[in-house]
Amino acid sequence: MKNELVYPGKTISTSEELEPSKGTFEQSGIVYGSILGKLSTEKLQATVNGKTIRMLKKGDLVYAVLEDVLSEQMSLLKFQPVDNVGVDNSFAFMRISEIQKGYTERFSDYVKIGDYLKARIVEVKKLGTYLTIAEPDLGVVKANCRQCKKQMTREGNGFKCVCGNFEKRKVPK
Ligand SMILES: [Zn+2]
Repeated sequence: MKNELVYPGKTISTSEELEPSKGTFEQSGIVYGSILGKLSTEKLQATVNGKTIRMLKKGDLVYAVLEDVLSEQMSLLKFQPVDNVGVDNSFAFMRISEIQKGYTERFSDYVKIGDYLKARIVEVKKLGTYLTIAEPDLGVVKANCRQCKKQMTREGNGFKCVCGNFEKRKVPK
């Protein structure tokens, strides 16, 4: 348990085993971590030494991978960790109206599963965090070829592969 990595909300012990100290909090007899860091249990005190984590909020720039297209209207993304921001919000949603300004018929014309996106948080709700790539500087920043799976390089309004394949995406300007 000592030196274990603790993150906000992680159960450390009961308050009978360890007394809550710096970087922890107690609730109903259980000691939880309140920051990201390493656990110390000296003198029967639970102490977490590390950084304060800032939770994701509206307006934050994030990186996320497109995991799935759930319906014609909604897609599922997984956050990619950047520094120490937002570890407890691992998934996010993106509505089709957040792909670009104006009408989008299909997600697959602009983003594909596995694409690495630069996005911005538009909403943080209890049941989910929502992203947008509709701004000019947002969109797909890394993509792999559908034909040969290699990572492609940015070209024009999409990506080009060494195999000759070109794929359109919503890319940052
Ligand atoms: Zn290819």
